[in-house]
Amino acid sequence: MSTIKIGWIGLGRMGIPMAQQLIKAGFPVTVYNRNKAKESALQSTGAKAAATPAEVLQQSDIVILMVSDDEATREIFTGTNGLLHANFSGKIIINMSTVSPGISRELAPLCEQQGNYYLDAPVSGSVKQAEEGQLVIMVGGEASILHQAKPVLERMGKLVIHIGDTGSGNTAKLAINILLGFHAQGLAEAVLFAQQHGVKPENFITIFNNSALGNIFGKIKGDAIINNQYQAAFALKHIAKDLRLAKAEGLTTPLGEVAHNSFQQAETKFGEEDIIAIIKYLGQQ
Ligand code: NAP
Repeated sequence: MSTIKIGWIGLGRMGIPMAQQLIKAGFPVTVYNRNKAKESALQSTGAKAAATPAEVLQQSDIVILMVSDDEATREIFTGTNGLLHANFSGKIIINMSTVSPGISRELAPLCEQQGNYYLDAPVSGSVKQAEEGQLVIMVGGEASILHQAKPVLERMGKLVIHIGDTGSGNTAKLAINILLGFHAQGLAEAVLFAQQHGVKPENFITIFNNSALGNIFGKIKGDAIINNQYQAAFALKHIAKDLRLAKAEGLTTPLGEVAHNSFQQAETKFGEEDIIAIIKYLGQQ
C-alpha cells in the first residue's frame, strides 16, 4: 500500500475509471464531485468522499482534477471552498482536464504563492484506455515535481512524457485533438461518400480497418457507425470545445477552419453524443 494520499476531483466518464486505477493500485483516495451522487461508485470501491475541493486538498498529498473545461477548472480553484482558498501547502495539484494553456499559466503561480505546485497533465485515449491504465499523459511544469508525481501517473498511463513549461502539456493535447477532429470528420465523410455511391458502411469499414490507414480509433468508431451506437465515450461537445481552444491559440489552417466550424455547428444538436456523431450532422448537410 502506497503512502501517497490522492485527492480526486471530477468523476465524469474519464474521472471514474482513472480514479479507480489508483484505488486498485492501493493509493488511499479521497474524491469530490459537484454532483455528489457520482461519488458513491467510488466509495463502494474504497474511496473516501470530501465535502469540498478545499477539504480534498487538506486530506491529500497529490490532488488530481479531471473536469470538463476552463470554467469547471476555475470553479474548482476559485469557487467557495475552492483549492486556492485552502490554507495547506506542500501539495502537488495536477490538472488532467483538457483546458487552455492560458488557464494553466494563470493558476500555476497562484498555487506557488500558496506553497503548492501545479502540473498540467492532459491525456490522450478514451474510456477504454482509462479503464486499462493505458492513457498517454503529456505534462507541463517543473520536471522535479513531475518526478515526484510520476509513480501515480504511471498507474493511469502507458506513457508519461514531459513536454516543457507550464501549459505545454495543454498545447500538446490541443495538437493531438486537432488531428482527432480531422480524423473523425474524415472517417465520417469517407463513409458517407461510400454509402452514397452504393458501398455498404460495413464493407467500407472492413476495408479501412485492413488497410494501411487502419487504427484503433477507426476500429472503435467504425463499429459505432455500423451499429448506429452514438452514446458518448468522448462527447462531441468536448471536441467542439478543444477546437475552440485551438482556434483561440491561433489555429487558422484550412482543415482547422473546416473542422472547427463543423463541430461547432454539430454541437447544438449532437453535443451530448459521441464525437463520431459528426457523421449524423454531415449526413444532414
Ligand atoms: P464528463 O463525463 O462530461 O465529466 C465532466 C466532469 O467535470 C464531471 O465530473 C462534472 O461534474 C465536472 N464539471 C463540469 N463542470 C463543472 C463545474 N462548473 N464545476 C465543477 N465540476 C464540473 O467529461 P469526461 O469525458 O470525463 O472528460 C473530462 C475531461 O477530459 C475533459 O476536459 C475532456 O475534454 C477530457 N478528455 C476526455 C476524453 C474522453 O474520451 N471522454 C478523452 C481525453 C480527454 P458533474 O458530474 O457534477 O457534472
